[in-house]
Amino acid sequence: MREIKILYLYPDMLNLYGDRGNIQALKYRAEKRNITVQIDHHYLGGQAPDFSSYDIIFAGGGADKEQALVATDMMQYKENIQKAVNEGVFFLLVCGSYQLFGKYYKGVEGDIIPGLEIFDFYTEAIPDRTKRCIGNIVIQAELNGKATKVIGYENHGGQTRDVNNSFGKVLLGHGNTFEATDEGFMIKNVIATYIHGTLLSKNPDITDYIIQYALERKYGEEIELEPLDDTFEEKCREQLLHRFLGE
Ligand code: GLN
Repeated sequence: MREIKILYLYPDMLNLYGDRGNIQALKYRAEKRNITVQIDHHYLGGQAPDFSSYDIIFAGGGADKEQALVATDMMQYKENIQKAVNEGVFFLLVCGSYQLFGKYYKGVEGDIIPGLEIFDFYTEAIPDRTKRCIGNIVIQAELNGKATKVIGYENHGGQTRDVNNSFGKVLLGHGNTFEATDEGFMIKNVIATYIHGTLLSKNPDITDYIIQYALERKYGEEIELEPLDDTFEEKCREQLLHRFLGE
């Protein structure tokens, strides 16, 4: 039986808008295909995780206060996290975690939270607290050459710049900045995005992309995932795309 090992970082601090749902969606779609899923958690001040031993690492979004606490804890693992990224472990990073993998996050008061500097982008919050990128979002993305519309919800003050490889083109909503045409950051083994908790449940294509990537890397062979009955997921997506884009 095949197995996927997932590490969920700071589940009690980085879990805005049900980010945890991403773990549930991965587990659900993997288990439907008889793939065993092991989920480990790392909490603030906990024992050092062996990042490289995981197939998928997930971290969600959090308010600035939580982000600062988590950043300090994460910083001690900077080299090990970098190593895991280089080795091809899959990272799914939402909002606050997306920001922490860049150079720095500058908060509303001008306070700087240093990032892990794994990627070149940086994030600065707009000094006016009332100005945030909030609402439903749809982006046009590509997964293994296949076009897909990613549907979700964003809520961030941070404006992320110098992103050299975005997750997708914004069709509705804001994305990396207020005026952005691009959302998130993506390379083969990293998706970093402002799209919150509903990401993987609303977008089964992304969930399957991650599961397939993780299995192919682990077992060193091409894997074709057995199709699932996505009637409800497709109906939900049709409704949302109709509402948001008039399709
Ligand atoms: N503090 C960050 C911001 O507002 C992240 C918020 C979040 O994770 N939703 O930009």
